[in-house]
Amino acid sequence: MRSRFGVLALMRRQDEPAHDFPSFARYLNKGFDLRRHAAGMRDARHNPEISPSSVFLALFHSFVFRNPSFQSLERDLKDTYLVDWIGAERPFGDDTLRYSLCGFDTGPLEDMLVDVNQRLKRSKAFDDGRVQGRLVVAIDGIEVLSSFSRRCEFCSERTVKHKENGYSVKHTQYFHRGVGCQMVHGNVTSFLGFEWQLPGEGEVSAALRLLDRIEQRYGTRFFDIILLDALYAQSPVLDRIEQSAWDVVISLKQNCPDLYQSAMRLFIHRDPDTIFTERRGHKTYACKIWSTEGLPFAERTGTVRVVRSEEVLCRNRHRDGKLDEFASDHEWCWITTLPQAQFPPLAVRNLGHARWKNENNGWMDLSKHWAFKHGFLHACHHRPKGIDSQGNKAPVPNHGLMAVSFIALIAFSICCAFVQRHSKLVKRYHFSAIAVAGQLAAWISSPPPRPVPADDS
Ligand SMILES: [Zn+2]
Repeated sequence: MRSRFGVLALMRRQDEPAHDFPSFARYLNKGFDLRRHAAGMRDARHNPEISPSSVFLALFHSFVFRNPSFQSLERDLKDTYLVDWIGAERPFGDDTLRYSLCGFDTGPLEDMLVDVNQRLKRSKAFDDGRVQGRLVVAIDGIEVLSSFSRRCEFCSERTVKHKENGYSVKHTQYFHRGVGCQMVHGNVTSFLGFEWQLPGEGEVSAALRLLDRIEQRYGTRFFDIILLDALYAQSPVLDRIEQSAWDVVISLKQNCPDLYQSAMRLFIHRDPDTIFTERRGHKTYACKIWSTEGLPFAERTGTVRVVRSEEVLCRNRHRDGKLDEFASDHEWCWITTLPQAQFPPLAVRNLGHARWKNENNGWMDLSKHWAFKHGFLHACHHRPKGIDSQGNKAPVPNHGLMAVSFIALIAFSICCAFVQRHSKLVKRYHFSAIAVAGQLAAWISSPPPRPVPADDS
């Protein structure tokens, strides 16, 4: 029995057509040159019987099928025709996956992620999310794993207090965090890049490194606007963004008290710039929005614009067996570099709220449905040997978690494009992304035509 996320719960009418693996494979090879990329994968093993290409293709498809662990993939490799479909040398197990992936070269994986995004942009996959003609990304951090017992050479550490038998005790917790950059505001929400936090480093430092990396790989004009949470309301972030001529929308909270109070003093004495009501499903938002340009930010020479939205959310709720209307007040503020003339207050408010998409459709989806927080290969000692900096034979540095995370982000980005843009069946039958994964997973129990074609294009 498979133990995929909800796949067993997939209910489909018998007469409804389903996606088939061969047409998905054609999409991968024609649209993204999957076989060529796979052929370029490398790892630290010497003359392995199972090639890095086979390891990559097996794990890539494992994420496509939403397998939650290497054990599930091992079962697929043993009990289905996956080995034949991907053209692997023979079935292989968890042991081979670990030994290969711990020494995997992440360079070709990053090259593939960049190529996937460049192809998506060329095919106008991001265009439905443009705001006044501009493309929007969100940058946000995620904690990928934490442990009190297992640690590796790249772990960050923190002290955590617990109550034990009535006494407060301290324990050291090991963790890995990273920062991702994701296209938002449109249907195809692929990830452009991911940067791990180094031991002892904060999220903002990793994000600044990620921006350098993204500029180096994609240039400055791949996207235009960056959405960030309140943590990023700092001069070094604004300076870095200005340097590349990007624009930014950053949540403003009490962590910038001077700016917040300057804006509030101005807004309290005048009417809002925009008043409007928005209905979304059973929720109604009554919004008053203020905007002002030319406010000083910390010690920077340039000024920023602040937008504030006062929102009353009305929704129906059931209480004591009766349906009544419930209202709650919310306040949102943003710092932005977007000019008022082209981006009216409502456009900035909508962009500010779009950052949630990164949390809900990005990290939350990856955590819930893509096993992104499984902690694959963390502190794994089963690694090939290489020559270390002192010239001694030693296990190669463990790149397993990095390699697996890159493969997950590649699979996530391609599957998002397949479901949101390519599939006619999704448009017609409104299949969920999970349902599509289940249909493709079910297909690999069918024998492939022989011989397996070398090139589907
Ligand atoms: Zn670690």
